[in-house]
Amino acid sequence: SAELSDYDTGLAEAIAEETQRQEAHIELIASENYTSRYVMQAQGSQLTNKYAEGYPARRYYGGCEFVDKVETLAIERACELFGAHYANVQPHSGAQANAAVFMALVKPGDTILGMSLAHGGHLTHGAAPNFSGKYYNAVQYGLNPDTGQIDYDEVAALAREHQPKMIIAGFSAYSRVIDWQRFREIADEVGAWLMVDMAHIAGLVAAGLYPSPLPHAHVVTTTTHKTLRGPRGGLILSADSDETLYKKLNGAVFPGQQGGPLMHVIAAKAVAFKEAMSPDFADYQRQVIANARAMAEVFISRGFDVVSGGTDDHLFLVSLIKQGVTGKDADAALERACITVNKNAVPNDPQSPFVTSGLRIGTPAVTTRGFVEKDCQALASWICDILDALAQQKDLDAVESEIRGKVESLCTRYPVYGQRPE
Ligand code: PLP
Repeated sequence: SAELSDYDTGLAEAIAEETQRQEAHIELIASENYTSRYVMQAQGSQLTNKYAEGYPARRYYGGCEFVDKVETLAIERACELFGAHYANVQPHSGAQANAAVFMALVKPGDTILGMSLAHGGHLTHGAAPNFSGKYYNAVQYGLNPDTGQIDYDEVAALAREHQPKMIIAGFSAYSRVIDWQRFREIADEVGAWLMVDMAHIAGLVAAGLYPSPLPHAHVVTTTTHKTLRGPRGGLILSADSDETLYKKLNGAVFPGQQGGPLMHVIAAKAVAFKEAMSPDFADYQRQVIANARAMAEVFISRGFDVVSGGTDDHLFLVSLIKQGVTGKDADAALERACITVNKNAVPNDPQSPFVTSGLRIGTPAVTTRGFVEKDCQALASWICDILDALAQQKDLDAVESEIRGKVESLCTRYPVYGQRPE
């Protein structure tokens, strides 16, 4: 038989269970999304069989004429979509894209300046356990605890004091618009490279709903699987006119960091870039933002603190410090009601990074399955019911089970890959 389920029952069962989980849970992890079937078709294609070290027309292997077409399409589309002059579509992940930029632009021991993990930066922006914190002298900026926003004067002061060779802007958890121009001015003042990691907001940027960092940064990195809704992977872009920079970046990806590119994933990236150019995609991104705002407003009206007081993008952070609830317990209670979020540190968090006092809530995945504002408002109020029960230590089991039922019917109404019921 040609069916995996007949050949490898245990494995096929685990895949079926995960598919069912994706249908039956409400996914609010801000970095997740559901790709189209076209993206999955490309990723599940025979391209997985091909070695293609090098770049189009400059390969170390024979038989690359067709994968060259694929990679060229992906590069051209990435450049068109983001207004870039240069794109490298080969990084296997966001972390590897970032590692390649480090390798191209700074030397081990050099000083870098990035946003701390605890305040919304990514591991690869200089966190201690990551290569970026181990091999470089990583100085970290954070949020102003009063406003919950980036304090550009603090960034500038740290840059003047520490003279970094590279400044990193971008985030995994920040709900406001970043002033890319200001970051570039700070970088120029101290003679640093400016790298922007737009992994979280790439889809919003592609749709023109969040300011593009391309005109300001020397180099922009991103993942392709978050708001951009493509396959898991990384991408490096530049709108800088310096062609020696492109050469450095290409050399840092291959042979610097990686061997053969994943041609099936590159094909799936090309599909995602095509999808992102369509008017439907801009409508989708507008709804992502509208849904995030609708949810944040419910939390605020129910007396919860939303970091920075609201959101301009696809996510927001709820602080549970006032309620005395930990992110860990809130995450677990919501999961019992089939709502998936992630715990997240918030400014002035008294808890450890493993426990935290906050939740990060994002709307890219629920918007893909079709949720609109009214669904998101209902969902936010259910989450508040569970958080209230948790804070008051009252009726938690009953509330969780009532909401589990509501979640089930909402999920049935909005299937991810199945047919929508009439
Ligand atoms: N950069 C940012 C801002 C991220 O949020 C993430 C992932 O969460 C990454 C990079 C890393 O991407 P990946 O998990 O593909 O390595």
